[in-house]
Amino acid sequence: MGRISERFLQIWLLARTVSLYTYWGVRKLLFKGEYGMTSLPVQGSGFVSLQGVSKSFGDVEAVKGLDLDIASGEFFSMLGPSGSGKTTVLRMIAGFESVSAGSISIDGQDVTTLAPFDRTVNTVFQDYALFPHMTIQENVEYGLRTRKVPKPERAKQAADAIARVKLSHLADRLPHQLSGGQRQRIALARALVLRPKVLLLDEPLGALDKQLREEMQVELKSIQREAGITFVFVTHDQEEALRMSDRIAVFNEGRIEQLGVPHDVYEKPETAFVAGFLGVSNLLSGEAAKNLVGRSDMVNIRPERIRLNGAGYRAEKDETAVSGVIVEAAYTGANTLYILETEGKQRLISSRLNEEQPGHEEGFVMGDKVVASWRNHHVVTIPQ
Ligand code: ATP
Repeated sequence: MGRISERFLQIWLLARTVSLYTYWGVRKLLFKGEYGMTSLPVQGSGFVSLQGVSKSFGDVEAVKGLDLDIASGEFFSMLGPSGSGKTTVLRMIAGFESVSAGSISIDGQDVTTLAPFDRTVNTVFQDYALFPHMTIQENVEYGLRTRKVPKPERAKQAADAIARVKLSHLADRLPHQLSGGQRQRIALARALVLRPKVLLLDEPLGALDKQLREEMQVELKSIQREAGITFVFVTHDQEEALRMSDRIAVFNEGRIEQLGVPHDVYEKPETAFVAGFLGVSNLLSGEAAKNLVGRSDMVNIRPERIRLNGAGYRAEKDETAVSGVIVEAAYTGANTLYILETEGKQRLISSRLNEEQPGHEEGFVMGDKVVASWRNHHVVTIPQ
């Protein structure tokens, strides 16, 4: 049974490669003229630059007029909910998907109509797609072999790439003899060995459990730093994006809602969507905002900025305090999340770091009367 499924995977991998090459071969013949113009001057200033890029699938407008510049050596993340268009953007940069409008350049070269294998990029997918019948060493050598790199040289380069992901001791094993995390690292080594200028990563850690995922996040980041390669990383995990990226683009419905360094995207969200998508928020507007913060435009207060005090607490200078009752408490290990209802029936979420062991600190339970307080400068206005 194991053999049959391996055989099936082998055939599937071969079919995938052949169909891709056939598609681009035919395209190349049909668009010969376009291919003659692949070194057009570039409009954007980024190492990877997208200018007015759109993509439609029938009636679905997956990506809408995107302008994006990614710097050389940057760890750039595209973050957003399912269906927001981030994978489509990645696939257009890779060349697996054509653009409906606009242009894409990499390192000063217009690649809009280039085949994937003519672009200086490599992609790491969530499903690894390692050749099951080849050892780890052979898997990593494979790309160099197709580039006709002589045997001793490719063996050395592959060994170096495997060492970089710290798996030299497993080089003679077959993929099925590795754990999921180890397979993912090999997929990374296989991409790195080709020394792409840009590495595209499509939810590469999506299949891993939380602990392994967090370990891999640290490793991935340090590999990127050492290798100095531009990483374009797709994820729907906001913590992962915040932890790893130099900059984050938050996608919503085919557009970028906000682009910035992690700190700014979290602390200064420009839209209600971004505030809600990154972390937990207390979004207030209209009457509720007027009652609690004295103005009616849309504002946000992060739960970790709302402190809970015993009844009778009085606001300090530059602070606001409101009375309420705890209506929900959720212990999450490092933190406890409390929901309180103010006298004006507004619900607020407060997060408290569990610095002490249970029983050693003053906690709150449902029904407790409390006073919530926050510093006035922790109220962030949402511009749109
Ligand atoms: P996820 O996190 O679920 O992968 P995403 O943000 O990467 O989502 P995309 O995969 O880019 O989103 O999809 C964007 C939109 O385009 C979705 O509405 C999707 O259904 C649609 N879409 C993507 N690929 C195709 C396709 N080949 N044919 C038709 N529609 C597609």
